Amino acid sequence: MELWYTEKQTPHVGITCKISRTLHTEQTPYQHLAMIDTEQFGRMLVLDGMVMTTVQDEFVYHEMISHVALNTHPNPEQVLVIGGGDGGAIREVVKHASVKKATLVEIDARVIETSKEYLPEISSALSGNPRVEVVVDDGIAHVKKTRGVYDVILVDSTEPIGPAEGLFALDFYRDIFAALKDDGIMVAQTESPFFNADLIRRVYKDMRRVFPITKLYLAAVPTYPSGLWSFTMGSKRWDPEQVEEEKIPALGTKYYSADIHKAVFKLPRFVRDLLE
Ligand code: SAM
Repeated sequence: MELWYTEKQTPHVGITCKISRTLHTEQTPYQHLAMIDTEQFGRMLVLDGMVMTTVQDEFVYHEMISHVALNTHPNPEQVLVIGGGDGGAIREVVKHASVKKATLVEIDARVIETSKEYLPEISSALSGNPRVEVVVDDGIAHVKKTRGVYDVILVDSTEPIGPAEGLFALDFYRDIFAALKDDGIMVAQTESPFFNADLIRRVYKDMRRVFPITKLYLAAVPTYPSGLWSFTMGSKRWDPEQVEEEKIPALGTKYYSADIHKAVFKLPRFVRDLLE
């Protein structure tokens, strides 16, 4: 018998994948967690019924949440990833030779542990890397108690429900601003411009109240709702669109490049309209 998994992405739209095997399911203290193997996308991490990452298309999201900020900042040394317990963003962060310490603050230890077990190619930097520190804590509490420490903060969160709700709030962006150094940069994943227009509008407006430079950029992620994904950057000093191409190092990436860095801020008209 064929088995198919459907994520109901909105009340009216879903994505359906043929399952080759269910590897693991559990209820953690924070969410329902499933690891499934799919014919098209390989292994897939699903939290509360929503696709978080897959072995086949994870490179787009993880490269794009990391390298745009890390190449905009001239010398990122201290980097914080909030959420991101699968380890994909941290794996990209430590590709930068300037990074002395990459800290992961994930609220759910089970996401980290199961990713290490079932997604070794994504979680590879979470064990045995002396530059990586893994902290199991609430990212909101962590930034509240931190002042002027980080060059770059990446918010690699779940959708804005449950423990991630506060990761999409004005007060959180103010705390991130304070946790960054004087020329720090943050990037948050901000969902789909097709399905989450109100969220994008609100987050962009809130981040613009906090950061002198706020920019939105896009990437194509097949397993995320609508396939078109947005990231919003807040920067204290550096403008990601002013980066000189030759300063962008080769990082062994499959999606991100100097051309992509320059191109992703050119937005389709309907997305630009959301920001006005
Ligand atoms: N790339 C994914 C996406 O856009 O669908 C998200 C990756 S998933 C690994 C995000 C992680 O954020 C989850 O493991 C979840 O436990 C974590 N998370 C949610 N709220 C959090 C909080 N307040 N502090 C730290 N981590 C949190």
